[in-house]
Amino acid sequence: MIVLGIETSCDETGVAVYDTARGLRSHTLYSQIRLHADYGGVVPELASRDHVRKLVPLVRECLAQAGLGLADLDGVAYTAGPGLVGALLVGAALGRALAFALEIPAIGVHHMEGHLLAPLLEENAPQPPFVALLVSGGHSQLVDVRGIGDYALLGETLDDAAGEAFDKTAKLMGLPYPGGPHLAKLAQQGRPDIYTFARPMTDRPGLEFSFSGLKTQVLLAWQQSDQGEQTRADIARGFEEAVTETLAIKCERALVQTGRGALVVAGGVGANRRLRERLAELAERRRVQVCFPRLEFCTDNGAMIAFAGALRLAAGEREGAAIRAHPRWDMATLPALASA
Ligand code: ATP
Ligand code: MG
Ligand code: FE
Repeated sequence: MIVLGIETSCDETGVAVYDTARGLRSHTLYSQIRLHADYGGVVPELASRDHVRKLVPLVRECLAQAGLGLADLDGVAYTAGPGLVGALLVGAALGRALAFALEIPAIGVHHMEGHLLAPLLEENAPQPPFVALLVSGGHSQLVDVRGIGDYALLGETLDDAAGEAFDKTAKLMGLPYPGGPHLAKLAQQGRPDIYTFARPMTDRPGLEFSFSGLKTQVLLAWQQSDQGEQTRADIARGFEEAVTETLAIKCERALVQTGRGALVVAGGVGANRRLRERLAELAERRRVQVCFPRLEFCTDNGAMIAFAGALRLAAGEREGAAIRAHPRWDMATLPALASA
């Protein structure tokens, strides 16, 4: 089954073709980073309008890369939520309309299920059950994946998401938008143990996270410092150590609590080198498997949506002609994948 995937939930326009027989056939991505940089954050109306401009050309380019035409498609998957409603509607309207015109099924994919399944596009990926750490710009969650579509939330952030904490912390130290990757790069020049910040909520049981206090700690440290280049790198290093160690501690707890033998990591912060090192070390020590998406599939992309949608369409899921867009949508309400 050949499925076109469309992602427009935020500031990336992503398109991909996934073939259940041959794997990923092609993927194209356009990032709106430059469009929003002057504002220091995503401006929803600008995002929607830019998706309108970029989406159709990207679909054409993606099909051409795969050497396919519209008539070769067997289904269309689009991100139905969660995300910015105007942005979601662009992908949903095109995806649903294309499927209607081609007389093929369409499916609205949950963006976080897309992230969660992205590691399974890699070779030697584990099959459920496993624990998933979802760390993106809007979410920080530990999920017990009992099967595809069968998700139990183990814990989540009480305030900022991990990616959001990276972005806000970077911003308060004057780093350019989007801050997360800049801060991570700077941390590589930072010296260890010059700044030590709290590991929030690791002193009590549970799998919840909280990152907003950490951001305040960094703000105070930065304000009281000489604000020089080396100091900024040292603080960045201290912050990255605090976040990644906190995440690793909670992952270990989740593995112990569930008894699962594999950990899957997804979302933009999954691209963080230090986090990958720590989780690889944890996996070796606990003798579990750890699996990450390739770097480009950590942040938003069309491949994860094509893949998640293809799994559901191939299992026989179908939906009506309505265009779906759910700005808020709880992943635990998804149906478990019907076993083939
Ligand atoms: P959501 O998926 O929750 O709706 P989103 O789609 O905006 O949010 P992603 O695209 O998965 O999130 O990830 C973007 C986030 O990842 C940003 O907050 C960014 O700063 C962060 N990020 C990207 N690369 C790195 C890195 N190397 N280190 C730390 N954070 C990173
Ligand atoms: Mg983005
Ligand atoms: Fe995302």
